[in-house]
Amino acid sequence: MLAEAGISTLVIERQIFPRPKTCGDVLDPAAVHQLSQLGVNVADLDGALPLTGMRIHHLQRRSDRVWPAGPFGHNHAYSIRRDVLDHALITLAETRGVRVLTGHEAVAPIVERGFVKGASVRGPDGHITEFPARFTLVADGANSRFGRALGTYRNRDWPYATSIRGYWAQQGTPSGGPRMNYAAETVAARVNLYFDLTGVDGRPLLGYGWAVPLVDGSLNIGLTVLSTSHGFRSINTTAMLADLARRVSADHRIDPQSPLGPPVSGRIPLGGSVGPNGGPTHLVVGDAAGSANSLTGAGVEYAVATGQIAGHVLARAFETHDVTVLQSYPGLLSERFASTYRRGRMITQLSAHPRILRPAIRHLAGTSRVADRVWEYALNGSARQWPQ
Ligand SMILES: Cc1cc2nc3c(=O)[nH]c(=O)nc-3n(C[C@H](O)[C@H](O)[C@H](O)COP(=O)(O)OP(=O)(O)OC[C@H]3O[C@@H](n4cnc5c(N)ncnc54)[C@H](O)[C@@H]3O)c2cc1C
Repeated sequence: MLAEAGISTLVIERQIFPRPKTCGDVLDPAAVHQLSQLGVNVADLDGALPLTGMRIHHLQRRSDRVWPAGPFGHNHAYSIRRDVLDHALITLAETRGVRVLTGHEAVAPIVERGFVKGASVRGPDGHITEFPARFTLVADGANSRFGRALGTYRNRDWPYATSIRGYWAQQGTPSGGPRMNYAAETVAARVNLYFDLTGVDGRPLLGYGWAVPLVDGSLNIGLTVLSTSHGFRSINTTAMLADLARRVSADHRIDPQSPLGPPVSGRIPLGGSVGPNGGPTHLVVGDAAGSANSLTGAGVEYAVATGQIAGHVLARAFETHDVTVLQSYPGLLSERFASTYRRGRMITQLSAHPRILRPAIRHLAGTSRVADRVWEYALNGSARQWPQ
């Protein structure tokens, strides 16, 4: 958006693309919609597998759900490996005129009299160069060092999530084979969700597991647990992931003992829990601003949306030559996300109690109208207004 408006735009990215990213690789309809706002049609991306819906597993019960029809006019969801998606996005940015420096790490903000004036950047040869900038967007993810150097911090009273994922090969699928073969064979590809995670003491955890088929024949298995769960500090997500892989192995034809690589975990700050999300010459977006969905931990939709809102604000600041326009950013985020975050937080905090959590999960795994509403809210995120 900024580059297309003729504004010189530079992306500093530490890694070389395609690079791995710890993710469940699911783009729900809200994320698909948000990407379409950038002009990215996920269906056209190589490596995108349509997901027709969800199969919910709760103890011995299974129920199938289609994706809630959001306010977007479609309910399409996809799986796509994040290395593939992110590579496509950064390539698109380049074709639109953004200068991209990969293999470069932003090590510190340049700050003059309290104003951020760009970044000191370490190149692949270890040499540090200063890149001056009129405005700086902080988008360095969940463990945002750059943001912390500018004073951002996470509100420790609010929940966060811890997530882990690994890949397994599905036997009998053409791993790495031609896309159409696999896609045709798995017309009913769906996300499997597991809503009966328990802690070491056998009590239910607030979270879920997943098994997500990918177009190359691999399976992304992972789980997310919210920090409000009873016994959260004593959970061992690596052991839980191994258990889940064993549990799904027959259904998905995987050898649970032979993952395609070691599992990787990450902490996801949720629901706008990181702030302040800007200053006079800088704005903070995505996980660096703790923007992920406060119930599910999904963050692609929110990272793209906060980036777009920040882009609009900066474009306006350039157009009007008025830096005070940046002060509108927190209000715009609030307008779009605050009620979604607040309600998500309320639900997580309420259902942290095992006596409430057990029946709540049972209910959610069922097919009542209330469950439909909660699913709509959880998956369509900020775009779906909570029913009054
Ligand atoms: C296990 C797991 C599963 C998940 N599953 C899903 C899912 O299925 N669907 C979903 O929507 N969300 C999911 N999420 C959340 C989602 O991955 C994040 O919310 C989303 O990626 C946030 O995007 P971002 O651009 O803010 O940060 P990131 O995607 O983390 O991107 C930050 C980028 O900044 C770069 N960087 C970091 N520091 C520097 C530096 N100093 N200098 C230069 N570059 C730097 C990094 O290399 C990286 O490329 C999952 C998260 C986890 C941990």
